[in-house]
Amino acid sequence: MVEGLFNEEEAEIIKEIPLSRVAAEDTLYWPYSSNGLYNCKSRYKYLKMEEDMMDRTHESVNTGDTQVWKQIWSMSVPQKVKTLLWRACREAMPTKHALFRRKITEEDLCVRCRVATDYSLHALWSCSELDVVWAEQELWSFRGEVQFEKKSGIGVVIRDNRGLVIASCSKVVHQMLGCSDIEAMAAAWALNFASDVGVRRAVLEGDSMAVITGLREDEKVLVPYGLLLEDAKFFSQQFDELLYSHTKRKGNNLAHSLTRYAIGIPDFLVWMEDVPSQLYSVFQTDLSDFY
Ligand SMILES: [Zn+2]
Repeated sequence: MVEGLFNEEEAEIIKEIPLSRVAAEDTLYWPYSSNGLYNCKSRYKYLKMEEDMMDRTHESVNTGDTQVWKQIWSMSVPQKVKTLLWRACREAMPTKHALFRRKITEEDLCVRCRVATDYSLHALWSCSELDVVWAEQELWSFRGEVQFEKKSGIGVVIRDNRGLVIASCSKVVHQMLGCSDIEAMAAAWALNFASDVGVRRAVLEGDSMAVITGLREDEKVLVPYGLLLEDAKFFSQQFDELLYSHTKRKGNNLAHSLTRYAIGIPDFLVWMEDVPSQLYSVFQTDLSDFY
């Protein structure tokens, strides 16, 4: 139906909106403040930002690189990639140089290599300390898969109090979602999965502080992934006792490996009292951290 009503580009954008699994009312919120409520300060900041963008668009017209930008805007890559490119070319990224220009810091040296000025090009590409990122094949292919193939992954591990696995699962989502969106969606999946497996008392661990805080909140949270949090809260009612805990990414390697594993599977896979054999070593390392 979406394809019938909208043009191709709009239909693609609409299909990228993560949907709630439980019927929920739409909520109106202000996207330029952290709590979703309107205030004059954020409105002012938004207007200034818009004005800056307008000025810069004029500049780019004047400098004659319109053709290049036309090509960039028509590239079939996610919008956020184009925006990043645009911000990098306009030096509109929060680099040390940008902070220095606004007199927020006293020097503009890159904090990683400490040898060059931290311009956008340096921060994204030429800094020698970035070589590890570009050389890390697995990391890069993971990003590639998540960002360009329009897929996101969810990984869930349920452990008992000795750290042994009760069940684990991987689920691919055929949408390219933002960090908080996928974390909130994963929380709902984890709770639903745990309750299906028969768990009634649990601690839900996640590495997004914003999502964990949102889950602890009784009121509806006015953020873009608010409906996904409501989904998770719906499934949380099936527990006798449920606590939420924020873990650093390091303490949850197995769940992250399952997330990555999800990208390569057709839909949804479950392992009872087990994990995929490819992930045994990750499981062992996680287990030794447990004690
Ligand atoms: Zn550097």
